[in-house]
Amino acid sequence: MTTSRDVITVAHGDGIGPEVMEATLRVLEAARANLEYEVVEVGEKVFEQGHSSGIAPESWDIIRRNPVFLKAPITTPQGGGFKSLNVTIRKSLNLYANVRPSKSYAPYVASEHPGMNLVIIRENEEDLYAGIEHQQTSEVTQVLKLVTRPGSERIIRYAFEYAEAYGRRKVTCMSKDNIMKITDGLFHRVFDEVAAEYPDIQSDHQIIDIGAARLAAQPEALDVVVTLNLYGDILSDIASQIAGSVGLAGSANIGETVSMFEAVHGSAPDIAGRGVANPSGLLWAATQMLVHIGKGDVAESIKNAWLATLESGIHTGDIYREGLSEKRVGTAGFVDAVIDRLGEKPQHLRPVHYRAGNLSVPAPKPSRQEKQLVGVDVFLDWTEDGRDPDSLGQGLEQAAPDDWSLKMITNRGVKVYPDGIPETYRTDHWRCRFTTGDDVRFTDVLRLLGQLNESGYEVIKTEHLYTIGGQAAYSLGQGE
Ligand code: NAD
Repeated sequence: MTTSRDVITVAHGDGIGPEVMEATLRVLEAARANLEYEVVEVGEKVFEQGHSSGIAPESWDIIRRNPVFLKAPITTPQGGGFKSLNVTIRKSLNLYANVRPSKSYAPYVASEHPGMNLVIIRENEEDLYAGIEHQQTSEVTQVLKLVTRPGSERIIRYAFEYAEAYGRRKVTCMSKDNIMKITDGLFHRVFDEVAAEYPDIQSDHQIIDIGAARLAAQPEALDVVVTLNLYGDILSDIASQIAGSVGLAGSANIGETVSMFEAVHGSAPDIAGRGVANPSGLLWAATQMLVHIGKGDVAESIKNAWLATLESGIHTGDIYREGLSEKRVGTAGFVDAVIDRLGEKPQHLRPVHYRAGNLSVPAPKPSRQEKQLVGVDVFLDWTEDGRDPDSLGQGLEQAAPDDWSLKMITNRGVKVYPDGIPETYRTDHWRCRFTTGDDVRFTDVLRLLGQLNESGYEVIKTEHLYTIGGQAAYSLGQGE
């Protein structure tokens, strides 16, 4: 067994958190994981003390000085003013990869997909979770979806490295690049580039909608899935649900210096304090943590004992089924059964074998490409003349300086000028694309905006149009 003594950060959380954490630490102790704990307070009490993100400032020092953080679920208070603790931790500590295995343990845990054994690797910091939202007009709100080349490259490379390290055969990328050609398109393109460096691992790409449908109908066909933040968030909940029980799944948030491990489920206030919670989700997360800190042998022994316990029909209430299970136990009874079986291997379920190691991918080197300003999209809040696009178009053509020409106007992305059709619905939010036919300088844009402003148009934002690496780096209007 591994002998090195590691210090880890532990948070006991809320609701069933302290019960499942105590259970998990008992198993770690019995398996001689040889860990020391530094405890931090997170969650409800800390929110109530007025810390809006659920963590006290002094806890950061502890979390930052230890390589891993084992976190029990917390209760997020209802109502505004509270920030998600998880999002805060992920972003502050640069936890770029979210890893969620979903596996069926049929026939010992009822599942409609007995052959399911997949891992979802989700980009954890970017996409629509950058949290940049605005309301710009009475009618229109927007969120900024940020997809970066380094962020995409890092998570995709992590997925292939994971597949290699865990003996998995295939990595599937899911995106919506048929619609979002620049953002999701970048993710898909980087996937193809990175996949080419791993010829021994199969790779394919699926559009997220059909991919999610296939995941729900035939999860057995998937192995490792790598995807953007929002899609991954949704897919991983579908996957844990159809595997049999959300209560059995753990997840890892991997960063360069600190990584965080937790159960997928929440603090289950409905069963808190009754000693009936299933500790498996946090125990699973703890085994992911052990592999990460190089104690794969301890993780293997715990996981095999856990599989043997499931096989023996000793089940907590959430997975207990008449005729399938032998004995219904509470949290402590389940943990006793796991501890009794340390050193055993399951007879029917496949025993696990973990290659130990901290799987981490360095941040890609920054890169620059030649960039040229070629025009500007000017967004207006405009409601005059019955919202007639022709009236707006003609007015803008008159108002703009002579060297600028109006290429088109769109409303919610659909071209309405020139040559729009009357059926298109029109909000108070108009994108007006201007170019000069020549290289554009920033001062030219300021001159255009100044003149539009003087003519009474309310500019609410602009987006520059660039060519980057010689390619147009902006989307066309629908119908353009
Ligand atoms: P939940 O996961 O806590 O509970 C959903 C259902 O599953 C409940 O019926 C619960 O009893 C059951 N359940 C969950 N874990 C179980 C376990 N280990 N054993 C047996 N049964 C279990 O989800 P919820 O009710 O939507 O959320 C409760 C609280 O948890 C909320 O405040 C939410 O914000 C928070 N939450 C926290 C995290 C986290 O800390 N990572 C994640 C999700 C939800």
